Amino acid sequence: MAAIPQSCDVLVIGGGPAGSSAATHLAQAGFAVVLLERAVFPRNQVGESLIPHIWKFTDMTGVSEKIAQQGFVAKAGGITLWNDKIHQIQFSDFGYTRPGMHVERDIFDNILLQHAESCGALVFQQVAVKKVDFSDNLWPVVYYTDKRGDSNSENSIRCHYVIDASGHGSFLASQFKVRQTISPQLNFLSMWGYFENARFVGADRQSYGPEALGTVLPVTFVMSVEAGWIWHIVLRGKTSVGLVVPTSHTRGMDKSQLESFYQQTCKSLPHFSKLLEPSNFIAGSLQFRPDYSYYSTQICGENYYCIGDAAAFVDPIFSHGVQNAFYNAAVATLAIKESFKKPSQRLRYSQLCESRMQQFYGFSRALSLGDYGSNGVNPSLVKSLMKLLPQLELELILVASETTNRSDNFRQLAREAGVLGQFQENFSGRKTERFDALGF
Ligand SMILES: Cc1cc2nc3c(=O)[nH]c(=O)nc-3n(C[C@H](O)[C@H](O)[C@H](O)COP(=O)(O)OP(=O)(O)OC[C@H]3O[C@@H](n4cnc5c(N)ncnc54)[C@H](O)[C@@H]3O)c2cc1C
Repeated sequence: MAAIPQSCDVLVIGGGPAGSSAATHLAQAGFAVVLLERAVFPRNQVGESLIPHIWKFTDMTGVSEKIAQQGFVAKAGGITLWNDKIHQIQFSDFGYTRPGMHVERDIFDNILLQHAESCGALVFQQVAVKKVDFSDNLWPVVYYTDKRGDSNSENSIRCHYVIDASGHGSFLASQFKVRQTISPQLNFLSMWGYFENARFVGADRQSYGPEALGTVLPVTFVMSVEAGWIWHIVLRGKTSVGLVVPTSHTRGMDKSQLESFYQQTCKSLPHFSKLLEPSNFIAGSLQFRPDYSYYSTQICGENYYCIGDAAAFVDPIFSHGVQNAFYNAAVATLAIKESFKKPSQRLRYSQLCESRMQQFYGFSRALSLGDYGSNGVNPSLVKSLMKLLPQLELELILVASETTNRSDNFRQLAREAGVLGQFQENFSGRKTERFDALGF
């Protein structure tokens, strides 16, 4: 069993997409990086729909080829049926030459973590961080429990910077007590499970049996359900179906009542009933995530950076989670690299990074939940990001903002930023298609 060093340049907590790509960026730049991960990979994770934006980040870390070789399901885009209106988005209409994907996250995340290791990061699984002591500003001490093999020992490691990529437990934000849940009316419970032999929706709006996967490009299919929504993501050999409802709708239900509620709802909804009709629910696959939208009032400091879900989480309706994790990893590691070059400026770099990451989260939150002006969204930061986005990326987001009623405030911000009017004037393509009916 390899020994965990007593010191390193950067200590990363967690080996999900955020932590593993941060570790890769830094190891590739020659820094001594230690990543501590409490689970054993491949580990279970939700979040299987990936948008094609992720490729620019995987290109940066050099892992794109390994991902492409895995043969994940390529998807053409998304179809939403929201309050009886049907919209379809095709990524190729926005200039993307590489597809979005439906990935088994245990496999996807494992590729990223192994890549970090192959680039020189020291990765230790089954090692859980317990506390970080920042009293020595230049050498924080990270305390951990090592559970490898039969051991269960406590130890510590010193580092110059800590990157918290611990996911929704938000390790450091919880330690600093800066994690905030958003307003109760925007709180949702998500429950998801897996079906075998379900049909899927193709880019031509018809439904297909699983045997057609590989010849017909699928889409992610999303539908509004009362005050929530439901997803359908076809994977290799199974289909992920997730129901997102206001927490208040299921209050007081025990686990088996929740399971009946989930199965009945999925199988009785229009379209879903047809897609799931030939399928079997995989027993024991139902999982839950309650109250999952939150943000943190401070995510970067002189000697620490909180990235990915450890910093904030937004309702996943637009599949932004993994992209956010990659973006944060790129920005935070840039700030750290610059801080090593100019230690006297490290506070300044962390402040710049804080502003960039809060801007990105605010943007996603305004798009997905429609709350701005409160709950951690800074309207002027969101508007300035709108003005900075490349044209096609902005168009895709503005088109996505039409597909649900979640983005009304986002569209108001876009109007105030002057980008919505400009978009409507210049927009001549067929990129926002509306249909009266699906073909099944
Ligand atoms: C219901 C739902 C649906 C979603 N759907 C999508 C989607 O379709 N598309 C999308 O892009 N995103 C989606 N997401 C979001 C996406 O899953 C996350 O944004 C993404 O996994 C964040 O990556 P991360 O690296 O920050 O965290 P994680 O993937 O959670 O990784 C964190 C890691 O840290 C480890 N860890 C935690 N605590 C410690 C500790 N103390 N010590 C050591 N290790 C620790 C954990 O074991 C874990 O491996 C969804 C999320 C939810 C809840």
